[in-house]
Amino acid sequence: MRYDQIIYNGNIITLEEGLERPVAVGVKEGSIKKVWKEEIRSSIKADEWIDLDGRTLIPGFIDTHNHLFMYARQKVQLNCSTPPNLNISDLLELIRLETEKLPDGEWIVGYGYDDTLLEESRHIFRHELDKVAPHHPVFIRHISGHLAIINSKALEYCDIPDSVKDPSGGHFGRGESGFLNGILYELPVLERVMNRIPRPSVVELVTQLEKAAHDYLKEGITTSTDAAVGLDLDFDEYRAHVEAVASRKNPLHMRYMILYSLLENGELEGLNKSELHSRIQKDTEGRGKLDSVKLFQDGSIQGYTAALRGGYYKNENYNGDLVHKQEDFNNYIEKYHNQGHRIAIHGNGDLAIASIIEAYTNALDKNPKRDHKHRIEHLQTAKAEDLDLMQDYEIATSLFINHIYYWGDRHREIFLGPERASQMNPTASVARRGLLYTLHSDCPITPISPLFSIWAAANRITRDGHVLGEEEKVSVQEALKSMTIYGARLNGTEEENGSIKEGKRADFAVLETNLLHVDPIMIKDVEVDMTIIDGEVVYQREIS
Ligand SMILES: [Zn+2]
Repeated sequence: MRYDQIIYNGNIITLEEGLERPVAVGVKEGSIKKVWKEEIRSSIKADEWIDLDGRTLIPGFIDTHNHLFMYARQKVQLNCSTPPNLNISDLLELIRLETEKLPDGEWIVGYGYDDTLLEESRHIFRHELDKVAPHHPVFIRHISGHLAIINSKALEYCDIPDSVKDPSGGHFGRGESGFLNGILYELPVLERVMNRIPRPSVVELVTQLEKAAHDYLKEGITTSTDAAVGLDLDFDEYRAHVEAVASRKNPLHMRYMILYSLLENGELEGLNKSELHSRIQKDTEGRGKLDSVKLFQDGSIQGYTAALRGGYYKNENYNGDLVHKQEDFNNYIEKYHNQGHRIAIHGNGDLAIASIIEAYTNALDKNPKRDHKHRIEHLQTAKAEDLDLMQDYEIATSLFINHIYYWGDRHREIFLGPERASQMNPTASVARRGLLYTLHSDCPITPISPLFSIWAAANRITRDGHVLGEEEKVSVQEALKSMTIYGARLNGTEEENGSIKEGKRADFAVLETNLLHVDPIMIKDVEVDMTIIDGEVVYQREIS
């Protein structure tokens, strides 16, 4: 046989037992056809020889929870993150400068705003935004994705009066006099505004997705799951996603968590699992897959909208709200479960996590199903008793490990206190129980980088340099598996990807060094040199 490519002369981490240190990999028609344990005979032929030159070949990263669509949109929005914006006046000046560039009446849309990182450690209010932007509607989304701040022009544009009633699952921030203060809490409230901001065309959205996907390729990702298709622009998100994949502008193997609201009305209404999967396959010309139906049962810890059993550390009497009443929630879960769907539910706070477990166990008790792979997303503050139940009912999860670095200090000091903070994202406890799990960045909530997530799980270091929960660290090898082979298991594609084995897809990342041999503290700085999908080099780092 003549191979399309032979990859050789480096470290090959297969993640397959009994195949620890092969010498080369042969690829044909996008699949791994041969893994050589010993030297390759000189008679073997290939069209292309990829010389690793001592570098390391690993299975391509499988990212099981991020928001590619949201990230794609943010790349064309105003960066309101800290840094570079250190305080409220920096942010107000940034917005004022934007008003000079745009005609009156045009929207200013920003992302990355983080009240607790600003020097003043508080939100920016509507009247402050009004001073710098009296003639432009302003919508700045909080870093959590679950909150936003807006000005009077935006409220006026969206016909939201001060007397507006709070929808279920969210609320409008109010000052002492009862007037709206411009802070929006949770997605049902954010939607009231986001639905009114003029949308780009699907063609423009596809171009934005193409650019965003390229950033993922740079990180060695070959399979990616958008964790809430329909969150910001409802069905247009679906259309843009499938078009980007069908046209090969997005070369990633894509999986979609479809927001449950898209199944409640519109073109996808009432589809069961196999109908929805067939629809996605058709629309993506066979490249995209249904992952699950997505629901939310709380918000974000750093936005005080996660639902906790105990109160917040610096706000003891407040513990956040569940999105759905338990009875309604159980009904939704039962319905999707009985339609054959795999379900994924966002739960950060332990009260929400318990509520999700109750809904799953209720559905599973009535209609038992093996290998259902229902998931709890983030699982940040799960207690041992929650994990035990998850083990009993084989509930899977993906942990938001990057929180340890990005918010760990503030979780200890403001949101959760030292004890609960040290038990956050309990990776070792999850692994010890044999739960099916992965790790994630939740990009764009934190930057996309599987190597960074591996680093975070192995080191559990905060921004200020503290170790948060030594006993919940896992080994680099274990963390690497969670971003590759465990991802394949969670996705139910273990036969296709996740390790380097004959018969699997030729999806790889090439790293500059062997991450199993470097000091764990260095892992986030390891460079990805090349990404290969179906045997095709889709990214190559320029080495100056
Ligand atoms: Zn998410």
